[in-house]
Amino acid sequence: MIKRHPAWPSVLCVLVLGLAVEAGAQSKGVSVIRAADMKPHMAFLGAKEFRGRSAPSAELDIAAKYIALEAATIGLQPLMPDGSFFQQLPVEVTTLSATRSHIRVSGPAGELTLHFPQAFTSSVRTPAEWSATGGLIFAGTALSGAQPAWNDAEGDLRGKFVVVLERPTAAGAAQAGSAPAARTRLLREKGAVGLVTVISAEREKALAGNGLGFDLAERLRFLDVDTVNPAPPSPPGESASAAAPAPFPMVEVRHAAAAAMLGMSLEELTRWFDAGRRGQVVAPHVYPGTSLNVAVAFDQHRRTTPNVVAWLPGSDPRLREEYVVIGSHHDHNPPREGRVFPGADDNISGCAGMLAIAKAMMVERPKRSVIFVWHTAEERGLVGAYYFVQHSPVPVEKISANLNLDMISRNDPNAIYLIGSNKLSSELDASFHEMSRGVKLTLDYKYEDPGEPNRFFFRSDQYPYIRYGIPGVWVFCGTTPDYHTEGDVEEKADYGKMEKVVRLTYLVAMDVGNKSAPLKLDLHPEVKTRGAHNMKVVWQRPRQ
Ligand SMILES: [Zn+2]
Repeated sequence: MIKRHPAWPSVLCVLVLGLAVEAGAQSKGVSVIRAADMKPHMAFLGAKEFRGRSAPSAELDIAAKYIALEAATIGLQPLMPDGSFFQQLPVEVTTLSATRSHIRVSGPAGELTLHFPQAFTSSVRTPAEWSATGGLIFAGTALSGAQPAWNDAEGDLRGKFVVVLERPTAAGAAQAGSAPAARTRLLREKGAVGLVTVISAEREKALAGNGLGFDLAERLRFLDVDTVNPAPPSPPGESASAAAPAPFPMVEVRHAAAAAMLGMSLEELTRWFDAGRRGQVVAPHVYPGTSLNVAVAFDQHRRTTPNVVAWLPGSDPRLREEYVVIGSHHDHNPPREGRVFPGADDNISGCAGMLAIAKAMMVERPKRSVIFVWHTAEERGLVGAYYFVQHSPVPVEKISANLNLDMISRNDPNAIYLIGSNKLSSELDASFHEMSRGVKLTLDYKYEDPGEPNRFFFRSDQYPYIRYGIPGVWVFCGTTPDYHTEGDVEEKADYGKMEKVVRLTYLVAMDVGNKSAPLKLDLHPEVKTRGAHNMKVVWQRPRQ
């Protein structure tokens, strides 16, 4: 929680203001950037009620609308040709069909049909529609271990679905639907038809406690956008990988469904799980006369998800036709089996920082125009940023630079990571150095190398701009143990740090926006001019 300042005596107030003005000698706007203005945006958009603002979702649409309204209130103008703040990205959404997917169990006790998402789900996404039929065998606990004793699966698996119990992972929640390739290979070799995993007691409890079925497990295809990276040169003598085998039918089932399928009570199933937890072996069971028919089909529909795009005309009538783009992303990740990921640092911190910069620019703006883009679908592969540069409402060769704020509210209060600032233009990095002096932030280059193991260079929205030959930088506080978890909440933000980072970004935007010419491209021999032709430049190092 942020600490409120007591009312300052007026003499101190003059001192503090004096310091602030000195900190941003070039700009009167810098002292307008205050933590107190960013906190409400963080508290609202970073709340769990937004359910992770995944792209596309109704919650993200609401977040986008809020940002656009705030931008308009501050005084930014819409930039899209239709007079709106929204650049809508078309996306094709594929989900498991609730009406055309089923598991049909036929046995001595009669026939039973299980439905998605209440009773089962499947992670097998190709082909678009599949079905399989076979007998049923419970493989015993041997097959569910971390290091299964494969030879224990000695029953005749030919023509059968193999039922196993899932073990929870260390984190207490298993990765939905993942089965090690070694397991499926072995089951296939032994002639099995498919794999039925009974979800762990922990997952069952989480779903039951939240009154949920399985997630809809959307698969997305964004349209009219190219995010493909050129392949790095492959080492000599390495041939293309052999064609992958057809996917192995796999489903996950809830406990009630499993008990019904295996003709046992829930209590008996619980005893099996308990025995497995104690390291005891549950013997394999065969179910003569029982057969399973699994059918999985997919439904497709079109949706849209918005970039929010606003601008502030530059103060110079000639340079107004050139631009600085300040960006962030407002999307995060969808809930998983009842767990919600608020994404306050990632990345409402950047979104709120942009609104603070916009407000400061109402006090003093640069000669060039400034475009503010709150990108969608960053978490889906930087899609919103790719879409923006590929459908830019202004000529991309007129964009001097891109400053990307993504995660700026955590970790070392006096340091910030820069990624990308020294890749295309020496002037961009020089500007950060000069401006950081007044803000008392240390610039840290630990993550700037594309070959750094975390590969952060490729992992946020400055990258599509860089691929377009636009000098871009990611201003980044680094990850925390809360990264992409339920723990990334507003209460953990360091607003003092945010204020400094946002002031620095504002000062750099002013500096870049006021230069006599767009940032010169002087660092990469292949990138001479801005534009789509640079997409062919290989930024990836060949893997070792
Ligand atoms: Zn992010």
